[in-house]
Amino acid sequence: MDVTQALLLLKEKGYKHTGKREQMLQLFSDQGRYIAAKDVLEAMQPDYPGLSFDTIYRNLSTFVDLGILEMTELDGEKKFRFSCSIDQHHHHIICLTCGKTKHVHLCPMDQFNDTKDFKIIGHKFEVYGYCRECSND
Ligand SMILES: [Zn+2]
Ligand SMILES: [Zn+2]
Ligand SMILES: [Zn+2]
Repeated sequence: MDVTQALLLLKEKGYKHTGKREQMLQLFSDQGRYIAAKDVLEAMQPDYPGLSFDTIYRNLSTFVDLGILEMTELDGEKKFRFSCSIDQHHHHIICLTCGKTKHVHLCPMDQFNDTKDFKIIGHKFEVYGYCRECSND
């Protein structure tokens, strides 16, 4: 997912193209890591001084619903990043300090055989830690 794809998708789904939305998406594109709603607000406020947390949050939720952003909870705080463009099934290692993400191309579900009582429709698996930059202090 990138800014152009995201804007196209918003248009297809009938959402208005606003400078605000585009700037939010651009921020996620520039950052390329998990960031919190308050980081988005902070980055946007110089250009949109009247912007409220609610507006940011509403837009973030829309982006998640549309699959533009993915969300996770780190340290009890919701964080967001652009959805991966890789179609192949994979998981993430996430740095708890900077939100940087590494892709892991193996899936623990492959080892998981005892599912006969359930029809499995999805799963989540995330690994948390500190990236090289953040553990060198
Ligand atoms: Zn990924
Ligand atoms: Zn880090
Ligand atoms: Zn998996």
